[in-house]
Amino acid sequence: ELKKLKKISDYEWEIPPYGDMKVPGKIFADEKLIEEMDEKVYEQVCNVASLPGIVKASIAMPDAHWGYGFPIGGVAAFDPDAGGIISVGGVGYDISCGVRTLLSPLTKKEVEPYLEKLVRELFETVPSGVGSEGEIKLSPSQLDEVLVGGAKWAVEKGYGELEDLEYIEEKGCMPGADPSYVSMEAKKRQHRQIGTLGSGNHYLEIQYVAEIYDEKTASAFGLFKDQVVITFHCGSRALGHQIATDYLPILAKAARKYGIPIKEKELVCAPINSPEGEQYFKAMVCGVNCALANRQVITHLVREVVRKFFPGIHLKVLYDVSHNTCKVEYHEVNGKRLKLYVHRKGATRAWGPGREELPKAYREVGQPIIIGGSMGTASYILVGTSEGEEKAFGSACHGAGRTMSRHQAIKSFRADDIIEKLRKKGIIVIGKSKKGLAEEAPEAYKDVNEVINATCKAGLTKKVAKLIPMGCIKG
Ligand code: 5GP
Ligand code: MN
Ligand code: MN
Repeated sequence: ELKKLKKISDYEWEIPPYGDMKVPGKIFADEKLIEEMDEKVYEQVCNVASLPGIVKASIAMPDAHWGYGFPIGGVAAFDPDAGGIISVGGVGYDISCGVRTLLSPLTKKEVEPYLEKLVRELFETVPSGVGSEGEIKLSPSQLDEVLVGGAKWAVEKGYGELEDLEYIEEKGCMPGADPSYVSMEAKKRQHRQIGTLGSGNHYLEIQYVAEIYDEKTASAFGLFKDQVVITFHCGSRALGHQIATDYLPILAKAARKYGIPIKEKELVCAPINSPEGEQYFKAMVCGVNCALANRQVITHLVREVVRKFFPGIHLKVLYDVSHNTCKVEYHEVNGKRLKLYVHRKGATRAWGPGREELPKAYREVGQPIIIGGSMGTASYILVGTSEGEEKAFGSACHGAGRTMSRHQAIKSFRADDIIEKLRKKGIIVIGKSKKGLAEEAPEAYKDVNEVINATCKAGLTKKVAKLIPMGCIKG
């Protein structure tokens, strides 16, 4: 199978266009990751490469694995003036699923005596699990304010601080939302889900900085050795999922109407410049704002808990970045600056230094990229590069990526064994569901160190810090 791939460098592989591919496929990975990558990734990369209006390449990150339509870890940019499309499968069901890291001024030693209680209290305060509900109840019309306002809405309601917004992608509020394109069903399902973690691989983790690789960038980010940080991963809950579900048939119909051949159910799409495409975009932005508001409310809850143990302590937002989005961005392609719709599904935006969109404090060094590993292994903070902007529209991996299906993991691991094994390593894990924990066994994921190494060696990012878990809450 490696034969189909043209080796560009040790960390970059190309699938030259064949059939109806309009651009090449491009996979960033080392040889071992390529060998282990499931077959379906190639197929999906090629499917995406054949969509109308795609520019430059259909890209997969080192953590790529099979997904609905696009691979998870897929990046593709479309030119609206060249018939470019927007696709549900290019964003994913959990619209704007993402991660936020909060920095504490505390060291590992200072937190250790309270760790067990802190994890327990966080578990009790931040609602988690399938269909979990929080204290905030919103009617559909109140929810419309969330869908337009995002994290800004949350801060205005007293969840967090104005300063937080500076450190969130889109400054906490993505423009272009129109809640009238979101179904009543979606809004009803979200009634009590703002400020909740959800289930599956969504997590809230207490971590410490085990290693710093780049002192200058780490200090710009406010990171230091042995520092305790809190990272959480969640998205737009039921609302995002319902938006995706609602738009699948709408875009399937649109694809037929505009004569776009569809190779997989979730690869349905519509031209960006069509009523259907515009409607999906406006609804999707609502999903993004829902996720940003969600993570803002969770930030508030986490701060309240931490203050109980450490009065007067302030948790600063390092950054909040999504990995399931479609965004309007300007990129240079073949010497021309184009306005593009960049899909990143299971891929993180990764701006290099100098970008105006970045918080002032980071502009000189580049954007922080937050990468989860698993509850039993390292996670990483990376920084974006100019080279990555050129090679992959400023994108990076988003995690280690699964290597084992959920089904296989349930058959292979037991929750109690995982908890005990991790406790011996000094990691306290609390899960809402035993099945969920088994699915999330660290062994079900690729080696995060390898994935990070490949992402950095490919030039997409640089390493800043390694994080090791101390406590993990799983939905
Ligand atoms: P996804 O966004 O595709 O659902 O997954 C995000 C990534 O988070 C996964 O690829 C995995 O590497 C990572 N991850 C999953 N569970 C955990 C966890 O409990 N802790 C940490 N630190 N990372 C995790
Ligand atoms: Mn998610
Ligand atoms: Mn995610």
